[in-house]
Amino acid sequence: MKASVEGAMLRRDPVCGVLIGTGQLYFRIAYRSEIYLVCSMECQHAFLLDPDKYARTPGAEPARSEAAD
Ligand SMILES: [Zn+2]
Repeated sequence: MKASVEGAMLRRDPVCGVLIGTGQLYFRIAYRSEIYLVCSMECQHAFLLDPDKYARTPGAEPARSEAAD
């Protein structure tokens, strides 16, 4: 059985929402003992300007909000 771990290493850029995979260029941000990955210096800058806006609070995430706005 060949288990597919595709997607397991993907992290979402909290700023622009792009998925960052392995082998891809990214920037690491350590914030509140969490590591966040962003895709560019611009996103890194945006994150650092307002980290609380982008940092996830575990458990405080809405289950699903795909409703049109
Ligand atoms: Zn980004």
